[in-house]
Amino acid sequence: MRKSYKFRIYPNKEQEVALEKTLDVCRYIYNEFLADRKNAYERCNRGLSTMEQLYQVRYLEFDTDVHSQVKQDVIRRLGNSFDAFFRRCMGGETPGYPRFKGKKRYNSFCYVQSGFKIDGKKLRLSKIGDIKIIQHREIEGKIKTCTIRRDGKQWYATFSVEIENNVMPVEPETFVGIDVGLKSLITLSDGTQLNPPKYYREAERRLKRENRALSHKKKFSNNWKKQVEKINVLYRKIRNQRNDFNHKLSREVVDNYDYIVFEDLNVKNMVKNHHLSKSIHDASWGNLIQITKYKAEEAGKFVELVNPYNTSQLCSNCGKKVKKSLAMRTHECTHCGLILDRDINAAINILNRAVGTTVGACGVEPLGLSMNQEATKSLA
Ligand SMILES: [Zn+2]
Repeated sequence: MRKSYKFRIYPNKEQEVALEKTLDVCRYIYNEFLADRKNAYERCNRGLSTMEQLYQVRYLEFDTDVHSQVKQDVIRRLGNSFDAFFRRCMGGETPGYPRFKGKKRYNSFCYVQSGFKIDGKKLRLSKIGDIKIIQHREIEGKIKTCTIRRDGKQWYATFSVEIENNVMPVEPETFVGIDVGLKSLITLSDGTQLNPPKYYREAERRLKRENRALSHKKKFSNNWKKQVEKINVLYRKIRNQRNDFNHKLSREVVDNYDYIVFEDLNVKNMVKNHHLSKSIHDASWGNLIQITKYKAEEAGKFVELVNPYNTSQLCSNCGKKVKKSLAMRTHECTHCGLILDRDINAAINILNRAVGTTVGACGVEPLGLSMNQEATKSLA
């Protein structure tokens, strides 16, 4: 099982230059090898494989001052984006061709297995030096990769760790379906509803305002740059708060349930939507599912993702379709007479889709998660 640890690092001026340079070299390699793939395809009608390119990157003509593993990882990344592209093509979609990366779009590089060493206060990076790190948690397990990421003006190191999991899977006895809503409302099939933390909505409003302010500034002017940094800081704040919230929520859910079912957001998001607040929520829920997954795995419990198709439209009692618009908050079945909050009905459908029956459906006492004062129990 994989687990990751993230720490902030504090490079000095010189090291920061070296980090920036490494990013530049990686981005250059990424774009060059992307161009190679494109040319090979357009001119010779043949594809280049990741293996071929891995071989080539070893013999770059210029001295890059970048650790060999880091360069190879760039090729692997490029390979992954092509794999994803082809997979989606096969699936009948029309995805965009992998794109060249601009300076602002390339923010991380990764050491795979070697080239780095951490000892509590210092992170030694090959070709870069000993960078100050604040390691606020002990790392357990064997470190597989070290990813260095630029986030605005800050830098972070993330270690991916392989840990042996000796926990025996439990025999599941308690089941729950979880519906995550557009308005960042979370509903459990037991009737528990959690409202989004207030800061979400506040941050969203602020983000909108700051983005509007940005659009009035002259591009690349000093004021514009300052505004960009301001927005980055805001994004980071939202991300951190969201992580915190998701960690607490997933802990409670995993402690209380053995079998946890979510909608598969990858399927749900095939319909593209570029709305700002929606993209924040999507990232947030993806993150929640990820965290819940690993906590469940640690405890020998289960997380399953199901097809989200029509979960809000079907009746969780009789299975018949009851059409409703987004504005209709109550599910009123004209076939069997069930009346239930719309989202609770959806959450039960999500659960049923995984377990196939109506275990733990309506009539169960809401859990009333203790972590959130804003929690409301609506199945009274
Ligand atoms: Zn019904």
